[in-house]
Amino acid sequence: MPEIKIYNTLSGKIERFQSLSPKKVKMFVCGPTVQDYSHLGHAKTYVFYDVLARFLREMGYRVTFVMNITDVDDKIFEAAKKSNTDALLYAEKYTRAFLEDISKLGVKTVTKFEPASHYINEIIYQVSRLIEKGNAYTVDGYVYFDTSTFPHYGELSHQSLKELLLKPLDLFPNKKSPLDFALWRPSAPGEPHWPSPWGDGKPGWHIEDTAISITNFGPQYDIHGGGYELIYPHHEAEIAQAECFTGVRPFVKYWVHTGLLKLGEDKMSKSRGNVIYLKDAIREFGADTIRLYMLSEHYRKDSVYKEREILNLKEEYEQLKEKLSKLPFPRSTTKRHSSLFKEFIQAMCNDFDTPSALRHLRSLIKNALEEKNKTLETLLKDIRTVSRMLGVTFFE
Ligand SMILES: [Zn+2]
Repeated sequence: MPEIKIYNTLSGKIERFQSLSPKKVKMFVCGPTVQDYSHLGHAKTYVFYDVLARFLREMGYRVTFVMNITDVDDKIFEAAKKSNTDALLYAEKYTRAFLEDISKLGVKTVTKFEPASHYINEIIYQVSRLIEKGNAYTVDGYVYFDTSTFPHYGELSHQSLKELLLKPLDLFPNKKSPLDFALWRPSAPGEPHWPSPWGDGKPGWHIEDTAISITNFGPQYDIHGGGYELIYPHHEAEIAQAECFTGVRPFVKYWVHTGLLKLGEDKMSKSRGNVIYLKDAIREFGADTIRLYMLSEHYRKDSVYKEREILNLKEEYEQLKEKLSKLPFPRSTTKRHSSLFKEFIQAMCNDFDTPSALRHLRSLIKNALEEKNKTLETLLKDIRTVSRMLGVTFFE
């Protein structure tokens, strides 16, 4: 089996991928905050981790893939208030919409979607333990994580305490350090609230994810994914909470981060008014085209959305599919592979170099369309396998 290499944000290096248990991978990816419909920018992240899981499965790993759904969050509470809706019902509506969107996008590898609101007991338990262990303190209905008790704070974002202190999170006056972050907070009037030993309130964002991941995976797992804008403070805080709570280091072996899809100079976001909803994009371009488009840039790079490019890709994809449909459906069970298939696998093993992998796929298809002799069966079978790894259909 070829060696898989992957960039680990924690070490800042490309590393050889070796799962904690043989042939098993536990992967957690930060899912959506369900305050609105998903936009096309989100698809870059979801498609990449889906392809990562598909590829690892094809390579013989059993992948357990958990994605959280942030349905308890101030942004949701504000949006619900504006539309005069109960916040939990509001979140439920957008959770359903999200699940529908990513199913249409062909993201089929997620084993479990876990909403934070189902984990309030686990959150309260983790916060209580962190207080008992001296890693957290209470002030006026708030519970804060005491970052001075965790010497590795800053290791994921590769920042010293001095550098971190230049970007305090919020200016709550009673925190011991500006870097300390909330584990539990009082709810504002009208917001959802849950009883806790520190008064009725709501959890902080970071603890939602450690409650979900530790409950499902235990104290240690293989891959944590998400967009790179989540590295600090979100993922940094997750490491601090989890390692203080369980005493096990490292919490996660490989931290993997995706770049952003930008619209012009900006990140795609509703608050900036530059947003293309995923559901509309799927209707217009089709899921397969969107997947190929997202994979045509390396996952760690930012991409700039260009409608012309996605339309060209749609046309190319439809033409190739049409031509392939005239060839016999691949039924061969031969174990042989074409050299282009091996190059495709090599590119994927090289930190998921999907732009190169897609070039090999194009050559594979081109060869199959020109091939009249007996290697055609092998080429078609290879195209079928590659399509399955990418979650794109070339044969009906
Ligand atoms: Zn998260």
